[in-house]
Amino acid sequence: MGRTILVTGGAGYVGSHCVAALLEAGHRVVVFDNLHQGHREAVLPQAELVVGDLADRDAIAAAFAGRRYDAIMHFAGNIQVGESMRRPFLYLGDNVQCAVNLLEAAAAHGVSRFVFSSTCAIFGATGRASIDEDAPVAPEDAPVAPGSPYGESKYLVERILAWAERVHGIRYAILRYFNACGAHPHLPLFEDHDPETHLIPIALDCALGRREEMQVFGNDYDTPDGTCLRDYVHVCDLAAAHLRVLDRLDAGSRAYNVGSGNGHSVREVLDAVRRVTGVDFPVRMLPRRPGDLPRLVADPSRIRAELGWTPRYASIDEIVSTAWRWRRAHPGGYAELARARG
Ligand code: UDP
Repeated sequence: MGRTILVTGGAGYVGSHCVAALLEAGHRVVVFDNLHQGHREAVLPQAELVVGDLADRDAIAAAFAGRRYDAIMHFAGNIQVGESMRRPFLYLGDNVQCAVNLLEAAAAHGVSRFVFSSTCAIFGATGRASIDEDAPVAPEDAPVAPGSPYGESKYLVERILAWAERVHGIRYAILRYFNACGAHPHLPLFEDHDPETHLIPIALDCALGRREEMQVFGNDYDTPDGTCLRDYVHVCDLAAAHLRVLDRLDAGSRAYNVGSGNGHSVREVLDAVRRVTGVDFPVRMLPRRPGDLPRLVADPSRIRAELGWTPRYASIDEIVSTAWRWRRAHPGGYAELARARG
């Protein structure tokens, strides 16, 4: 039977794809988003959009008034590793306080199911080939735990969720995404950040001639080709993981690492972009970007075993193709889509 789900950040990249999956599964969706990073056009018309800020308790109260939610999915937040190294308190402050405000409202309104959008960036430099849920968040001698204030802010919320359960009985699932990428295969949903900092959309812009060169941050890492290894997981596969975990929440709180288990270097991704687009573009090597870790690849054994989740988009070329389709159709992103729709 369909449930009513409150989705914060539902106008954002991963959030909007999850909203699509929830609607497709027959759930009712209320999106709560301040539209600072998110896009009105990314909210499908079957979902209700409440524009508001999680920093504003009154706005949250308004989103709960007269509605009864079966679960909350919390995507909203600041998400850039690099920015968090320059503005740590924006992350350690806002990301944490907004989650607390939301949890307070959940507790006050008796909503006892909560899905939290976390990140592999909570893990420090583990030195492991692949990261399972028991990997250490901090190397033993590290004064700071995760690699960046962004990762730290997500980790702090993970810890706070344990208290939300202990004191208020809120059952939660933590999904730690590895590198979300790709776009919806048929609905007009895609990645559109301002500024864009992510590897695949930037490389696609190079292929489109919207950028003159691709800058690669560091080729002196201890990895096979010297560039960072990441686990690229399609955004629709992430959305599918949310649906599966929603059905399991009543069995108890749990954290899952959500990735394919395959690592791709920055160079390999750029090769995939060249293959898919058929366009070559200049690449410039730059120094390392502060906050980046050499290797972040999931060990997805737990989510496979417990939720039966496996990614449907297995190859990096296939993932890049879905992103390319929308990027090529709407190089100006949602703003352009809005204009085209009149
Ligand atoms: N990267 C890069 N050039 C760019 C953007 C990203 O070399 O213009 C690298 C970045 O240093 C990292 C990888 O690509 O090693 C993935 O970065 P992204 O920002 O996409 O995701 P993150 O892993 O930081 O969440």
